[in-house]
Amino acid sequence: MGEAPDAAIPVVGWRLWLLGGERSAPGLVSPAVTAIWPPRAAMTAACARGCAEPPGWGCACGLYATAGLERLLVPYSGDGAIFGCVALWGRVVEADDGWRAEHAYPLALLALRRRPLDQALEQYLSPGLARVRRTRWLARGGRAEPPDDTTLRVLGDRYGVPVHAVTGVLPRLPDRRVAHRAAALRDEAARGLPHRRLGDGHARHRFTRAIEDLVAAFEGWSDPDPPPVTA
Ligand SMILES: [Zn+2]
Repeated sequence: MGEAPDAAIPVVGWRLWLLGGERSAPGLVSPAVTAIWPPRAAMTAACARGCAEPPGWGCACGLYATAGLERLLVPYSGDGAIFGCVALWGRVVEADDGWRAEHAYPLALLALRRRPLDQALEQYLSPGLARVRRTRWLARGGRAEPPDDTTLRVLGDRYGVPVHAVTGVLPRLPDRRVAHRAAALRDEAARGLPHRRLGDGHARHRFTRAIEDLVAAFEGWSDPDPPPVTA
């Protein structure tokens, strides 16, 4: 089968959610506007300033995604942050480090779990800031506890996307191996999407491999003495 033409390749970026909803029905929540993304349906942008067709030119509305995982802004590096690749379509306009879009849907999700050492370090270095961040996080619908495996499985089933847990702290992401594999995953998520939709098993396998490679990069990075990169 031939490759799809470039025009058919969707825009794919990275973005962040909070884990919200009921324990039996976990959902993805936009941190900025506290809106739950509907499972198995497109999320559509709305504008508080009244743009008829978000994302409007000269406005800040639209569904945001960044081109690089390392450019994600994390309001609180806490447990319960979910980040992942999203497909963007409809009206898509360029924004700082990425895009604002009319429609979006997640393609792969990663749940962030902090290392106990990082939690302790934050408390020690800036207990006041840690408290403020935590309060804001909870006010936006974030959870105080890291999501357990069952919650993540239900989340994946509801949205119909793969979900993996990774250990780390997002503001430290400019780790080269993580950034490299994140870029590879974003490429595969975009390029393979038309093929995966047609049921192409090879495309699905490549996508799964790219996700697993990124998860492994996080694990190697948490390791004090990571093995050499072989790829
Ligand atoms: Zn607007």
